[in-house]
Amino acid sequence: MTAHSEIRISGTPASSGVALGPAVVIDHQTVEVHDRADPASAFATAVDEVRRELQSLCDSAREAGRAEAGDVLEAQSLMAADPMLVDAVNTALAAGASLAEALTRTETDIKAVFAAIDDPYMAERAQDVGEVIDRIRRNLAGVDSPGSGLIETPSVLVARSVTAADTALLDPELVLGFVTETGGATSHVAIIARSLGVAAVVGANGVVDSVSDGDPIALDGSTGDVAVRPDAGTADDFRARRAAAAAELAAAERFRGIGVSFRGQPIRVSANVGSRSDVDRAVEVGAEGVGLLRTEFLFLDRTEAPSEQEQFEFYSYAASSFSEPVVVRTFDIGGDKPAPYLEVEEEENPFLGVRGARLYAHCPDVFETQVRAILRAAGTGDVQMMLPMVSTVEEVTELRARIMQTAAGLEDEGVAHAVPPIGVMVEVPSIALTADAVAPHVDFFSIGTNDLTQYAMAADRTNGSLDSLQDALHPAVLALCERTVAAGRRHGISVSVCGLAAADRLGAAVLTAMGVDKLSVAARSVNMVKSVVDSLERADASAMAGEALGAATAAEVRRIVGAALDRP
Ligand code: PEP
Ligand code: MG
Repeated sequence: MTAHSEIRISGTPASSGVALGPAVVIDHQTVEVHDRADPASAFATAVDEVRRELQSLCDSAREAGRAEAGDVLEAQSLMAADPMLVDAVNTALAAGASLAEALTRTETDIKAVFAAIDDPYMAERAQDVGEVIDRIRRNLAGVDSPGSGLIETPSVLVARSVTAADTALLDPELVLGFVTETGGATSHVAIIARSLGVAAVVGANGVVDSVSDGDPIALDGSTGDVAVRPDAGTADDFRARRAAAAAELAAAERFRGIGVSFRGQPIRVSANVGSRSDVDRAVEVGAEGVGLLRTEFLFLDRTEAPSEQEQFEFYSYAASSFSEPVVVRTFDIGGDKPAPYLEVEEEENPFLGVRGARLYAHCPDVFETQVRAILRAAGTGDVQMMLPMVSTVEEVTELRARIMQTAAGLEDEGVAHAVPPIGVMVEVPSIALTADAVAPHVDFFSIGTNDLTQYAMAADRTNGSLDSLQDALHPAVLALCERTVAAGRRHGISVSVCGLAAADRLGAAVLTAMGVDKLSVAARSVNMVKSVVDSLERADASAMAGEALGAATAAEVRRIVGAALDRP
């Protein structure tokens, strides 16, 4: 194998899309910081400049509509002046350390504190500290931080990690995609890539050492496939994937603003959102409301829960953006979405621990504040409330009672509000299996196939090596969905699906054929899903759902559904 031969790397899919182009490698090299006569004052000046630089990057990111990048940069600008960092450096300087030593010691110590808490959120915070201190070093050394200057033509960005500041500086028009060695589904790069609509693969081990600036590189953000210096055949394969993805998007465009139905019943295709910019994008693509507003994103990356007013403004903004319902899900913290200030205690198995609705008993005030904000927003628009990770009828009835109590409190205070329809996520198998008992206590079901699959198959959804067990189209998962749909029908309540399976062409088809009446997906998939429902309406799908439910494997289900979609 020569240095120029093709290298294939398999990473974690982080943001869908296919990109092919020259690589730009960002490798954050360390810079040397020399000592000076008055290191404390040089440090103070550098901190001040870095803080202002980060704040100005934050402002430009927000002006460009990149709210998530803005939030990360703002957090970093606060971190630059945080006493935890500043005092540690000054203490080390006072004890006789050089400026370089003081920075290194502080970085190591703070990272060690974060690393001792074993969770992905803290790993991201440790990365933020590294980025901020690196920026301070560069300022002291008079070296520019890497950024957009590096990219003049459309390129694929390759890095060990792409920093929040890098992404704010980059011109999204010129970034075809990201490939990084670090990062997972909760990493900043994944969040930012999705918000920019740029293809991304993270966790691509060894990519930085395999590629040089200008080398051609291809990535598929839906599969995690990366090809460095693709040979002619591979490049053709990626071009074909890119063309297929583009053709699919273009074909789906004709469904913008058009309703679709199956067997004469309207099927609503709404959006999953987590931020204001997601809401704006959902409006742009013509989503029919919001089927899942993941409120926990408002609770992450901060040191305390958001206020009632902040939450009210966000939820009512979302509601005012649509004429259809906006389903606000109460915070689903825990599992891979921890918020340290709400953590009860360290858990061996956080996905099987105090997660979602189970957490509310541990932080009743935070839950009540959120419920107040949702009830107030429901007074301004078409809002519905949804509870995540419930497992028993008792949990549902108890939470409902607490919501009613909060509503009574608002009534007593004379605060404008409304009690909205209240539904639950069906994402724990026990709820699907007892759906008939749960249904009388709720106004709707929404199936979360991501967790339902993880819990039905006993396969951690964040463990990439268990990919083959994480197919939501496995007949075991479909049986749980079917049971939920049947209970919904018997009790006259709507059943939607808001997990990733709804955005899978075959998933959308089989779930619709089974009787689901609403699908909620990321904004970019809304019109593709409508096109699938439309083609299902015109295909012969009469026996498909029954055949799929009787299949033995996920592969068999996929064959059955694929054949039905292609059958005129
Ligand atoms: C799900 O579990 O399918 C779901 C939609 O919720 P989340 O992905 O936020 O856990
Ligand atoms: Mg879930």
